[in-house]
Amino acid sequence: MPDCIFCKIVAREIPAAIVYEDDSSLAFLDARPINPGHTLLIPKAHYKNLYDMPDELLSSFMPIIKMLAIAIKKAVNADGINIGMNNDGAAGQIVMHHHTHIIPRYSNDGYEHWKGKEYTSKEIELETAQKIKSALS
Ligand code: 5GP
Ligand code: ZN
Repeated sequence: MPDCIFCKIVAREIPAAIVYEDDSSLAFLDARPINPGHTLLIPKAHYKNLYDMPDELLSSFMPIIKMLAIAIKKAVNADGINIGMNNDGAAGQIVMHHHTHIIPRYSNDGYEHWKGKEYTSKEIELETAQKIKSALS
């Protein structure tokens, strides 16, 4: 993908602080970290987001995410790790090359979690679950 910033990082056309690489994946520091050590894991091949990722490639990523999470936590002495993935613009995806955020967190880093909303009724909750079940089949 000629205009994709992450494809350019894979091709070494633009620099990045790479922390891990294998035949099909690359991990490097996010240029605007939530906290230092915030890392992005990407496939070397261009896929827009989760929906497009081949299952086999996606499955191979989870052990790498675990390995990176443990290493990052140790390296920056974090209290916890958030794993995040934004799919589509509405969910905050800005770079349209699939990536997983591995974010070190500290008890006192000042970030707040999203505040959940309650369902307005049990009926709506069950209806929503039914819609998802139907969409799965
Ligand atoms: P998104 O919102 O798409 O999930 O996140 C994209 C992430 O990529 C952002 O956190 C942003 O800081 C990071 N990013 C964007 N451009 C570059 C870049 O050129 N180099 C690096 N290392 N990170 C980038
Ligand atoms: Zn790309």
